[in-house]
Amino acid sequence: MDVLYKSTRGNGSAVSASQAILKGMPDDGGLFVPFEIPKLDVNVSDLAKMDYREVAFEVMRRFLSDFTEAELKSCIAKAYDEKFDTEEIVSLKERDGAFYLELFHGPTIAFKDMALSILPHLMTTAARKNHVKNEIVILTATSGDTGKAALAGFADVPGTKVIVFYPKDGVSPVQERQMVTQKGGNTYVVAIRGNFDDAQTGVKKILEDEKLSRELAEKGFQFSSANSINIGRLVPQIVYYVYAYALLVRRNKIKNGDKMNVVVPTGNFGNILAAFYAKNMGLPIGKLICASNENKVLSDFFHTGCYDRNREFFLTSSPSMDILISSNLERLIYMVSGSEDENKKLMEQLSQKGIYKISDEMRGRLHNFYGNYASEKETQAVIKKMFEDTGYVLDPHTAVASAVYDEYQSETKDDTPTVIASTASPYKFMGSVLHSISTEKSENLTDVEQISALHKICNVAVPNAVKEIFDAPVLHDTVTDVKNMEQTVKNIIFR
Ligand SMILES: *Cc1c(COP(=O)(O)O)cnc(C)c1O
Repeated sequence: MDVLYKSTRGNGSAVSASQAILKGMPDDGGLFVPFEIPKLDVNVSDLAKMDYREVAFEVMRRFLSDFTEAELKSCIAKAYDEKFDTEEIVSLKERDGAFYLELFHGPTIAFKDMALSILPHLMTTAARKNHVKNEIVILTATSGDTGKAALAGFADVPGTKVIVFYPKDGVSPVQERQMVTQKGGNTYVVAIRGNFDDAQTGVKKILEDEKLSRELAEKGFQFSSANSINIGRLVPQIVYYVYAYALLVRRNKIKNGDKMNVVVPTGNFGNILAAFYAKNMGLPIGKLICASNENKVLSDFFHTGCYDRNREFFLTSSPSMDILISSNLERLIYMVSGSEDENKKLMEQLSQKGIYKISDEMRGRLHNFYGNYASEKETQAVIKKMFEDTGYVLDPHTAVASAVYDEYQSETKDDTPTVIASTASPYKFMGSVLHSISTEKSENLTDVEQISALHKICNVAVPNAVKEIFDAPVLHDTVTDVKNMEQTVKNIIFR
């Protein structure tokens, strides 16, 4: 079956998967979605025998139907290799009654590697397939983790440049250090004086600017995006939910056909949307539990049906979730509204007034979702308790998910086997992790001292991704105002 993609806002024509990946975003400001979500018509008993790469192929070929088998297998082989510090690529650990799906074994120790290690290969393959001669300029806004993963993925990939914008005071020290030390002749890192939403809105504006894109085309360039709005990010993220289910069956934790719940620490709604797509493919997922930090716009949305971004923005210990405009929610709204026009109306209200309310009928279609949030105090308490009870160390993002799962269980008594998406290594946010589990004042330690303090406490090997960066020279130091983002991009491209 050929899967084609269209905009959630109804304009523009159908495009192939490779065209959607290349373009990143349709011209009308919507997001690409498949006309129909393909079915996972493979036996789970067969999936249970496969390794990660094989499962990836089974899932991805159903969405990226214009890639040949050889193309897709080559992309998968180049992405999921020794860059990951475990041969199984992701690992599933049972702790304190839940299954932690560790998605942080890639080069930048956060789950973004799961998709961003394959996106550059999908993108360059897509360019070849569509006879694109232009150089592709990847524009990315990051709340911390996407940036480094995109830089690492695209560094020195021929025919591409990658430009990353991050909020100057909105990322962790390790995250910032990882980005500003990035090597590669085609990598550019720019700090903005603003928050993630400013960065994301600025990038979307540049991508939508037709005049600028004509100017680029004349000079042999075209934009694309590595943000989770690109279906080339979304599709690889579906894989690990299927893989986790197959692992639970393989380990006799569930029987084929039994339900599993998933809990996802959520920011831009990309990761949990991938789980929702997996469910729509036919994977037996029960509840989709959406966990927010104190920026609880999604939690409120699932409670009230009203999405309201007009509120105070908090910097938390889980910065990759410090987001008030969750872009990928548009794909869910589109699905439950059942119409491009209705979706477009709501998204226009969001951009004009910062608020929209969905109908009761639409809310009814969200019954598989549960939303809640964890405060900073609850998050720290969960890190401490998990460590004291089991010796397992959670990063603050995963801890938010764990706290919300506790809340869900005490509210519902639902004992369905549950997978919690573990989105980052504790080393990536070691300051706040140490603060939760150690009596020593982590604020007084240097970064390198924090690494060894955490290593002593939790006895998990220090990932290379952390070891390297503190000796590496700073290669990027541009800081700019939000209003200068477009000019900065031009300066980089046309210099
Ligand atoms: C990006 C990120 C998230 C949020 O994922 P979304 O797909 O944006 O919802 C959560 N945790 C970590 C560590 C991340 O890097």
